[in-house]
Parts: sequence; C-alpha cells; structure tokens
Amino acid sequence: MKIGCHLSVAQGFFKAGQEAVRIGGNTFQFFTRNPRGGQAKALDYKDLELLKKLMAEHDFGTLFAHGSYTMNLCSDKPEIRQYAKDILKDDIDRVSKIPNSLYVFHPGSHVKQGVKAGILQITEALNDVIEPDNQVSICLEGMSGKGTEIGSTFEELNEIIQGVKYNEKLGVCLDTCHLYSAGYDIVGDLDGVLKHFDEVVGLKRLKAIHLNDSMMPFDSHKDRHEKIGKGTLGLEAIKRIISHPLLKDLPFNLETPNENEGYKDEISLLLD
Ligand code: FE
Ligand code: FE
Ligand code: ZN
Repeated sequence: MKIGCHLSVAQGFFKAGQEAVRIGGNTFQFFTRNPRGGQAKALDYKDLELLKKLMAEHDFGTLFAHGSYTMNLCSDKPEIRQYAKDILKDDIDRVSKIPNSLYVFHPGSHVKQGVKAGILQITEALNDVIEPDNQVSICLEGMSGKGTEIGSTFEELNEIIQGVKYNEKLGVCLDTCHLYSAGYDIVGDLDGVLKHFDEVVGLKRLKAIHLNDSMMPFDSHKDRHEKIGKGTLGLEAIKRIISHPLLKDLPFNLETPNENEGYKDEISLLLD
C-alpha cells in the first residue's frame, strides 16, 4: 500500500522524501507554501530531480500538495477571493512541476453568504483558473462542516465538480476524521458510505485519503484530529478502511497530531 504522512519541505523535497523512507512511508504530504499564506519559495529543480529518483527507487505513490488554510475562494470579501484565486493558479502551476503530485485544497467557507452563493464563487474561481490542457489532478477535500465550511457533504462536492467546465482532472480527497464528524458512519457502515459516495460523486473521482482518527463524536461537525487508534474511529475501523477493496490502492497520508517519530510508529502499526 501507499502510506505516508504530512512532512515539512523546509529542508527541501529530497530531504522530505528521505524522511518519508526513514519512517517507513512511500508517499508524503507537504504544504505548497506557508499554511498561513504568503509567497511560495522558488522551486529548486535539482532538488526535485533527486526526489524523483528516490521516488522511483522506493516505489512511491502519489504525493499530496496541500494548499494554504487561508485560501478561501468563497470569502465575503472580494480581495480575499482574488488573493485565493491567485494562489490557486500559482499552486497548480507549481504542483505540475513536482514529481507525481496531486493538489488538495479546502473548498472554502461561505462566511454567512449561504451555501449556494459559496458554491457559485468556488466554481467561478475554478473555471477562471483551470485551463483545458491542465494536467494536475486537483482534489477538493471533504470537510467536517465546522462553521460555514463548504464541502462536508458529497452533494456539495459534486455540485462544485459539475459546475466546472474542464473538470476531467477534478477529484476528491476524503479525510476520515472529517467524514465521521460530517455524519458519514465509516465505523459502522463503511460499505454504505462508499456506495453513497459512488452514487453522488462517483468512485472514479476519489483520488486520495487523509487518514486520521478523531477526538470528536460522530456527526459533531467539529474538526479535531487524533492519533490513530486513540479516538472515536478506533484502530479496527481504520484498518478496515485501508484494506477495503475499493480504497486499498489509493494513497493514504496521516495528518495526526504527531512528530515524525510518532508517524513512524503509526505507519508500522498500520502496516502490521
Ligand atoms: Fe486539509
Ligand atoms: Fe485533511
Ligand atoms: Zn481536519
């Protein structure tokens, strides 16, 4: 299987790849820029060449490039929407230059404008940015539904995808913590949830999984990640997720509250 965790690329991409190998992984996730926004560092193509070699040697799966948390395509402030769109465009361009990486971002928070208006702003932004020859797999992350977050239901995710003209490369990244908080019972009825996803969005759109336990109860609409096996999902449910026939070939990345040594332990626990 392809499993890894969120890692820093502050020391470069090759170093992050080496760290992924050291902790027993064969993928990793990184932020495209400082998660609180701002200018991204210029890409170092020598470093990326080394990463590419390492990924081939260690049979890596797809890497996840995660967008900034501050990027809100459906803010009620036009200047924040414009800024988010500029970042999105730049991120897609950057990710296209990083070996075998998909892009994951949070759809946005409508800040009391309403779900309908928010979805419209998100699709408009994606339509402005995604060009017909785009080769980057762009994934909307399924959210927990805290505050005015958009994308906590399969219906909302699908509405965004269907609103985008060149949507061939649009996909979904499901986060196990968010799913459970959003009211999808992946502990008691994983098959039912996957069937529902297939009917609404289509399993062919599912490209990536964030593997997290949750501190919060089912359907709580709260977003607090927990270490694997220590939360409301539990180890057995998480093991069923990674071994499910419809999921097992997807890349999984952990976003649990851990230092890298903790991630190493979790990866070995999950591969056990
Ligand atoms: Fe995320
Ligand atoms: Fe996530
Ligand atoms: Zn989260």
